Amino acid sequence: MLRNVLAGVLVASCAMAMVQAQEQGAGRGGGRGGGGGGAAAAEFPTAQQFAESKDAQSHVATAMKIGGTDLAAEAKAFCTPTGPQREALARQAAGLPPIPDQAMGPIKLFDNLYYVGFNDVGAWVVPTSAGIIMFDALNSTDDITTVVEPGLKKAGLDPAQIKMVLLGHGHNDHTGGGSYLQSKYGAKMLMAAPDWEMVTRNTRADRPQPKRDGDVTDGQKLTLGDTTVTVVQLPGHTPGTIGLIVPVKFQGRTHSVMIMSGSQMPTQESLNTFAHVFNDLGKPQHVEAALGSHPGILMNSLPLMEGIGNRYPTGTHPLLIGEERFNRYSAIMLECGRARLAALGRLGTQ
Ligand SMILES: [Zn+2]
Repeated sequence: MLRNVLAGVLVASCAMAMVQAQEQGAGRGGGRGGGGGGAAAAEFPTAQQFAESKDAQSHVATAMKIGGTDLAAEAKAFCTPTGPQREALARQAAGLPPIPDQAMGPIKLFDNLYYVGFNDVGAWVVPTSAGIIMFDALNSTDDITTVVEPGLKKAGLDPAQIKMVLLGHGHNDHTGGGSYLQSKYGAKMLMAAPDWEMVTRNTRADRPQPKRDGDVTDGQKLTLGDTTVTVVQLPGHTPGTIGLIVPVKFQGRTHSVMIMSGSQMPTQESLNTFAHVFNDLGKPQHVEAALGSHPGILMNSLPLMEGIGNRYPTGTHPLLIGEERFNRYSAIMLECGRARLAALGRLGTQ
């Protein structure tokens, strides 16, 4: 019992530390996070609430059952009071020193999908026959000029071809390089309306924000050249958090992956929206993988990405787990979301 209480206190302070970390920007030069106004302590149950809620534990048991043996590790990682967390924030909360930032990539994960950025946060690059679609813009102009531009050139891609940038949500580690891409290359900046409003409210002189070229909404299709991507809404981490379904090519075949800019479901309404996205938008497109901008939260851990990049394009692809397994993976995310809501006493309430 005492252990549970202590664990509860620890997790509560972790959640507080996470908010603080977001506001201060966990990591390099205070560039990360920012925006605030997102997760608060009450977004997550305490370890004690989670452990002592029979309802929560029955959802955990269901998730473990869905996971079977092949997705047991994923079910375990999702079914915690907070769900999987960014390593940088978890370390900060635990009082551990930050991991030094390391530029990464670009890592070629598919013929037409690259990860470029850092070990802690990255952006996604989708080359098409008529230019580049980017998802996210990292922390700052500096990140673009020192990592993205040279990285793209190394991969044989021209940064001047960046035509549109989807901003996954309105925190600075996703929007910070947007204004530079917009003014230098005329790239169009697109984000969901609630997060444009948040960005507008949180202006800081040292963080020039991109101008609002357009809003994106759930189910919206965007076509550039030979590639059509689908925007999905994933409210929870912020009200305007989005994701993107991207058709990716590997060994002569096309598959679908879903980039998700957040996986938090702090209300029943948020959880229902995730279920809608998986069922009504993901399934018809046969989505097989979930990718995050922070490595290690969804399927794209650093070792997995580096492994793919090192042997690309040979071998079997560890992100192409097949539709049946992906449907179980997304069902686990939802079950663990229900467990957290149950522990908070919010399951079934809007
Ligand atoms: Zn964020």
